[in-house]
Amino acid sequence: MRGQALIDKLGDRIAGLRGRITPNAEMDKITWFRAGGLAEALFQPADEEDLAEFLRAVPEDVPLMVVGVGSNLLVRDGGIAGFVVRLSAKGFGEAEVIGPTSIKAGAATPDKRVAAVAYEAGIGGFHFYHGIPGAVGGALRMNAGANGVETRERVVEVRALDRKGNVHTLSNADMGYAYRHSSAPSGLIFTSATFEGTLQDQAEIKAAMDAVQNHRETVQPIREKTGGSTFKNPEGTSAWREIDKAGCRGLMIGGAQMSPMHCNFMINTGTATGYDLEYLGETVRARVLEHSGIRLQWEIKRLGDFRQGHAVQEFLGQLL
Ligand SMILES: Cc1cc2nc3c(=O)[nH]c(=O)nc-3n(C[C@H](O)[C@H](O)[C@H](O)COP(=O)(O)OP(=O)(O)OC[C@H]3O[C@@H](n4cnc5c(N)ncnc54)[C@H](O)[C@@H]3O)c2cc1C
Repeated sequence: MRGQALIDKLGDRIAGLRGRITPNAEMDKITWFRAGGLAEALFQPADEEDLAEFLRAVPEDVPLMVVGVGSNLLVRDGGIAGFVVRLSAKGFGEAEVIGPTSIKAGAATPDKRVAAVAYEAGIGGFHFYHGIPGAVGGALRMNAGANGVETRERVVEVRALDRKGNVHTLSNADMGYAYRHSSAPSGLIFTSATFEGTLQDQAEIKAAMDAVQNHRETVQPIREKTGGSTFKNPEGTSAWREIDKAGCRGLMIGGAQMSPMHCNFMINTGTATGYDLEYLGETVRARVLEHSGIRLQWEIKRLGDFRQGHAVQEFLGQLL
């Protein structure tokens, strides 16, 4: 099998690693969409030192990418070549209070856990993480935000490893934040970060967290197989509004649907493939472009290769 051949080829170079290596890993078991092909190999490092050793061992011509808990990912059906790195909760999943208003969290810590730790310590400004289903690494990369707050407003410093296993410390400015975007070099793997909030009464924090959860329950299909907001909000309007105006609420292709509840959320109704999801997304982009002249930009990250004969063109190839 393809993945085992890659592992065999690296042989002794990776034999001493303490983390888990899985050949031909099923990405549909990882992504929230529960769709997509195989990763040639998956590596779950035991800790940062193990990750650094792995990065030093794997030649640079072997493709490598990192994923978090997959709540913002669409993996294509042809799968992902090379290694996918996923940080383990054991080695990277701790969050601790390190000052009156400061928190340090490993990159595999669920955002919800960061919110809980902040609440327990009476540190305000993290309630928005209570509603975001990702982990810290994904939040740092995506500048995750909700309820009028973004990750960039809380980040002080980020620790990361580069493709050669060297450690880097990035300041908030180094992260180059914009709306749902960081321009930090794409090869970096974030391993932990420190965050700063403000002192706040616990009852107020709790009320804010409850409000976040209640709001989500009523307006978002959070119990479905979804990837959250499919498209970024265009300047001056909302993605969902434009999708609705273009008649795409509830639109279905194969097993993929634009949620009738929140039409900027794509859902896998049960049998959707990566192809169905991406084809639906590009259909929506094409229809919105035709209807209002707006070019929606994907917020969801699309990874991997198309299955042969099932490529999907941007805007379905509509002349731009
Ligand atoms: C129901 C639902 C609701 C959502 N609501 C919101 C919301 O309100 N606001 C919001 O912003 N998002 C929302 N999302 C999207 C998603 O939860 C966020 O983008 C989240 O930050 C992604 O984190 P993740 O761990 O799942 O990352 P993944 O989806 O696994 O990866 C996302 C990106 O982060 C990169 N990445 C992950 N870990 C690391 C790391 N350690 N180092 C470097 N790069 C890394 C990946 O390479 C990829 O590019 C929602 C998703 C769902 C399913």
